[in-house]
Amino acid sequence: MVASKKTIPIAAVPGTGSGDGEVMVSLYEASRKIYPRSVGGLYARWRWALVWLTQIVFYGLPWLEWGQRQAVLFDLGARRFYLFGLVLYPQDFIYLTGLLVISALALFLFTAVAGRQWCGYACPQTVYTEIFLWIERRMEGDRSARLRLDAGPWNANKVLRKGGKHAVWLALSLWTGFTFVGYFTPIQQLWSEAFTLGFGPWEWFWVNFYALATYGNAGFMREQVCKYMCPYARFQSAMFDRDTLVVSYDEARGEPRGARSRQTDPKALRELGLGSCIDCTMCVQVCPTGIDIREGLQYECISCGACVDVCDGVMDKMGYARGLIRYTTQNALQHGWSRLQTWKRVFRPRVLVYTAVLWLIIGGLFLSLMLRTPFKVDVVRDRGVLARIVAGPDGRGMIENVYRLQIMNAAEQMQHYRITATGLPGLAVAGESEVQIDSAGSRWVALRVQLPYEEAERAGGGSHRIHFEISGGGDLLKEKSIFLVPR
Ligand code: SF4
Ligand code: SF4
Repeated sequence: MVASKKTIPIAAVPGTGSGDGEVMVSLYEASRKIYPRSVGGLYARWRWALVWLTQIVFYGLPWLEWGQRQAVLFDLGARRFYLFGLVLYPQDFIYLTGLLVISALALFLFTAVAGRQWCGYACPQTVYTEIFLWIERRMEGDRSARLRLDAGPWNANKVLRKGGKHAVWLALSLWTGFTFVGYFTPIQQLWSEAFTLGFGPWEWFWVNFYALATYGNAGFMREQVCKYMCPYARFQSAMFDRDTLVVSYDEARGEPRGARSRQTDPKALRELGLGSCIDCTMCVQVCPTGIDIREGLQYECISCGACVDVCDGVMDKMGYARGLIRYTTQNALQHGWSRLQTWKRVFRPRVLVYTAVLWLIIGGLFLSLMLRTPFKVDVVRDRGVLARIVAGPDGRGMIENVYRLQIMNAAEQMQHYRITATGLPGLAVAGESEVQIDSAGSRWVALRVQLPYEEAERAGGGSHRIHFEISGGGDLLKEKSIFLVPR
């Protein structure tokens, strides 16, 4: 992490000896700035495909319209989430829980199969670092040019290049913050407010906060977020096993490493005491976390495949077989398995169980969304009035209980609802039993429920289970409650 000024006197540590003078040693290694070299190849193309995909979705989604409203909007003030044709209320929290469980299980599954694929290709930290690095390369050049520029004195060229880079970074960060807030406040309204600087205090705060987080994390913190801040890096080892596909250096093939002429016959390498690694350090130079994969699997590795791409390029140039660094498993490396043998082990029982559970939960969530009624009802008994005797419409005595029903219309059209009560013979709703509610609106309805006196006597004193049946838009919802008969 960042260098700390915290030091300890070495003489205070047992076993470190003592001397006249105290030697101060730092507890932390100073961070080295990493200058990743640009790389092309299969995995770089995959990463860029995912950068495009995720960013088109992120920046484009809030501008999509669905009918008269934004297609995806998390309206926290009105406590409504709009997801295309769906309107979700806080009562639909179960779907969010389901989504989180699916995300966690998917992460377990993908990690068990192929390690940190999420980190290397789709995590926002990786995606924004990739975009910021692309801008940096356009402004300051590739690795060696950037190293020269940073080492050189400040002059007009350096100010212009660095200033230009930070200006573009800041503009992109602000646009990212604006887009983020556009998921919570209608983005068209936010856009018109932006021209008059008419944001509310929360909008100001979140646009700038998210922009600063993007600027800081993708521009400066970069690999340090992955190494020191992300909890996933810490517990990933619990999800790995010897059959997980990870980026690995084939030590048996690569060692002893060493420089050689390009003309050296690849078949004669062993006689010359050489492996396939030419020790060009290109795999270290492209690594965004600055590690040397030849030292073995390390927790800092985000499985981005940059070293695989660059090493394959080196192997091509040397006329050697590709795959000195490749996605493979520890077992495959140890036993010299073929690709087919390796993939057979990848689909091991643990992976199959994760897959089955994941599909079950996805299926369950999908089914419950399909069967979900487009309105919700909450029944609350009026605690001020337990039960009372009133005169019915024909003058007969009635026992009356009072309730409050909150009906939420989650449909996109205005709806009419009819309310009835069942559970006791002669039970009926008095007063307003039909209500009309606007699209995506909700309303509290005060409801009186009456039971003829003779039926109340037959049922006996005490509490009785009853149901409210609310029908509307072709759907019927039943909500249970209690009807009190005085003893
Ligand atoms: S890129 Fe390949 S050949 Fe070059 S140092 Fe790394 S492993 Fe060796
Ligand atoms: S070691 Fe290779 S796969 Fe791992 S982070 Fe570095 S470049 Fe990416």
